[in-house]
Amino acid sequence: MKILSDFTLDELKNELADLPKFRAKQIFDAILQVKNFDELNIPKSDKENLQQKYILKPVEIFKTLTSKDGTKKYLLKLSDDNIVECVYLKQNYGNTICMSTQVGCKMGCKFCASTLNGCVRNLSAGEMLSTIAVVSADNGKRNERNFTNIVLMGSGEPFDNYENVVKWLNLITDKNGFNVSERNISLSTCGLVDKIYEFAKLKFNITLCLSLHATTDETRKTIMPIANRYTIKETIDALKFYAGKTGRRVVFEYCLIKDVNNSPADILRLKELTKGLNCHVNVICLNPNGGPLKATTKDEALAFVKTLNDNGVSATLRRSQGSDIEGACGMLRAKTLNKLK
Ligand code: SAH
Repeated sequence: MKILSDFTLDELKNELADLPKFRAKQIFDAILQVKNFDELNIPKSDKENLQQKYILKPVEIFKTLTSKDGTKKYLLKLSDDNIVECVYLKQNYGNTICMSTQVGCKMGCKFCASTLNGCVRNLSAGEMLSTIAVVSADNGKRNERNFTNIVLMGSGEPFDNYENVVKWLNLITDKNGFNVSERNISLSTCGLVDKIYEFAKLKFNITLCLSLHATTDETRKTIMPIANRYTIKETIDALKFYAGKTGRRVVFEYCLIKDVNNSPADILRLKELTKGLNCHVNVICLNPNGGPLKATTKDEALAFVKTLNDNGVSATLRRSQGSDIEGACGMLRAKTLNKLK
């Protein structure tokens, strides 16, 4: 079965060449409004033919949890019964959807729950598009866009699913579709350097975020296996290339882990690493996932940020949302899979 949301509008016109031309746009719109076949206003015989070959709704809401702060966490079910997570964050500058790019993840970062059971498979471009459609529709009118920003910061490594993510970027920014501005999209990577170069050449004006989480290669290797493949210097050189090509400010994510990456020497090294690069450091308090890594206190994190600022580094502490509903990466899915076992 083919997934209809995997097609661009032009591709859909070709794919459905047997039907009148306007059907393609009708189906394209139905995808964004998460309609099912019964809601499609087309002749019964056409509908039955389509239903035999295609999936119109590849993503369904399996479970929703709402936090005290309004954050909503979704477990979404794919057509092969795999489950992914998605988070809807209410913010005063516009609501944000944080979505997954893979079922699980194979990057093996020690602090991250998404990677605990490895990577099951990539999400297709259409599954990612339908993720946005389903979550948007659940937060307002179906024929309106109920979000401003999208961050690829859920489960999975976007650059390990490079082609589908690029295709999704084309779909989500399509003027005929959600028409999301590239500036409202952020992509976070643990640092697949070759892909950063490849992606920079496409000149999408999105915000590229790097999960740095350490200031020396030795420390980074202890928490992020990708550090065995690329040094911090090689990775930051790639970010500089990206910033040069796109003119965009890049973002470093720095998850504070007690006695691992929160020393005064780390602050000085962060200052050196970020020098000469138009960037911002997002400091995050570790959300402990049951492993040996420990979080710092919020006061320690605030002091870390203040010292960075005093040293001329643009940095803020990321507000934690939805921690009462397993808001951090992969936690809810991991918990649910354990229960189902
Ligand atoms: N694979 C990509 C996309 C995931 S984004 C990447 O590594 O960037 C998820 C962000 O949340 C990353 O910065 C990740 O490092 C961070 N994160 C993962 N687990 C976390 C935890 N337990 N506490 C706080 N942040 C976490």
